[in-house]
Amino acid sequence: PTCLVWLRNDLRLADNPALTAACASDMRVVALYIHEADDGVRGPGSAARWWLHHSLVSLAADLGKIGIPLFVEAGKAALVLERATNDHGIQAVHWNRRYAPAEREVDHTIKEHLRSRGIAVASHVGNVLAEPWTIQTGQGKPYSVYSPFWRTLKDRAIDEPQQAPKKHGEPLKPKGIDDTYKAPKWSTKFDGLWTIGEAGARKALHDFLDERLDIYPEGRDFPGRDATSRLSPHLRFGEITARQIWHSVHALIEAEPERAEAGYKFLSELAWRDFSYHQLYHRQDIASVPMQEKYAGMRWRDDAKAEKAWQAGQTGIPIVDAGMRELWATGYMQNRVRMLVASLLTKNLLIDWKNGERWFWDCLVDCDIANNPASWQWVAGSGLDAAPYFRIFNPVTQGERFDAGGDYVRRWVPELAKLDDRWLHDPASAPKDVLEKAGIKIGETYPAPIVDLKSSRERALDRQKEL
Ligand code: FAD
Repeated sequence: PTCLVWLRNDLRLADNPALTAACASDMRVVALYIHEADDGVRGPGSAARWWLHHSLVSLAADLGKIGIPLFVEAGKAALVLERATNDHGIQAVHWNRRYAPAEREVDHTIKEHLRSRGIAVASHVGNVLAEPWTIQTGQGKPYSVYSPFWRTLKDRAIDEPQQAPKKHGEPLKPKGIDDTYKAPKWSTKFDGLWTIGEAGARKALHDFLDERLDIYPEGRDFPGRDATSRLSPHLRFGEITARQIWHSVHALIEAEPERAEAGYKFLSELAWRDFSYHQLYHRQDIASVPMQEKYAGMRWRDDAKAEKAWQAGQTGIPIVDAGMRELWATGYMQNRVRMLVASLLTKNLLIDWKNGERWFWDCLVDCDIANNPASWQWVAGSGLDAAPYFRIFNPVTQGERFDAGGDYVRRWVPELAKLDDRWLHDPASAPKDVLEKAGIKIGETYPAPIVDLKSSRERALDRQKEL
């Protein structure tokens, strides 16, 4: 007898409940990944397809070592599974749960169908600290505010991560992974920037805990300091679980209690991810429907030229341009800068957050079905627990505060490298001779700001007051 593990966003061996359960049965185990073509199921964007390809290659090798073959197919999940279960004579199917409404619908239909054919189906806990329905307010409702959500989560007993299954059969040499789904040509620029796969994820966690956790609480806001874990793409593809991270941090706190404050700060940020999944599960479609209804009436502007300049990192606002160029060059952007670029687009430029969300989706290696739309809605004002509408970031003063020495801007906007710190975040207002000395011609070597920050702030406030 043979059973099948349908892998989705869980490309790992350790703490993989579906894989563990399959290996614990006395059946032969095969694994399957499907590039899904189902309505409403969101496939990865271009940059993330690059990651996915390499992650599958790594997973196939790891599974091969314990004797489990990985098949990679494409199409509607129900059809692929129909074929695979027939071809391999499958008697049981395991998967780890996913939480978007459209994904749940696909999974539910497939479960019913397989069961009607006499195939056993078991779904297991997905990659969250607490499944969305297990955590509720005192009134039995989903949380809409983060702080009480965190207070409840932090005292929970979070499941212990499971060990990777031991050898299940003779080692196999993995077949090549179909290249069709590799990302576009431009993604080769990411080669060498990341160590993709389960071992790389584990190393990223341990390097972070060893070297950067202590500077995290303060440093995480400063894009030039490189103080965060960079675990987001590993989490996105499930190369590591939130549970593994949780327990590693707790073990560290137990051994070195003086690191508890930093450890809890990090876990409280990790919990935002669970909060996003909570929203994803309980809402209709967070990538297209504003969570605060009144935002359905928001009058967004169409401004293709400004949107293009924003995408290309040519807005004339240095910290924003640095962020958009970091995104393009690495598939990643630091969190505070994500907030600043999103705020410029949705508030100063009044361009619909969905446009920005889609651009991020295509460019981020960590594009996440819950975190990306939830964060965009948070910045735009339509999200749960969103920033109050009158809080509009000023990217110049934010740059001066969080990139005071200009390391970040100089790294990504080299044409401003020679400009004095005093003017670096607002080059258009620098005196002529200062600009000349730095070799900068506004409008030629670096754009003039595409939007006036002061008047566009007023415009954004008026538009939001209309709601
Ligand atoms: P760390 O600070 O080291 O945090 C560790 C982990 O905790 C992260 O990997 C992430 O899973 C979680 N986390 C930390 N901060 C947040 C947060 N504010 N919200 C949700 N989860 C968080 N994150 C994504 O994973 N995918 C996205 O597509 C994504 N899009 C975003 C879009 C916008 C407009 C904004 C403002 C934020 C977005 N984020 C997204 C959240 C956050 O910016 C990233 O998770 C974080 O920068 C990743 O870097 P890190 O792993 O070094 O983070």
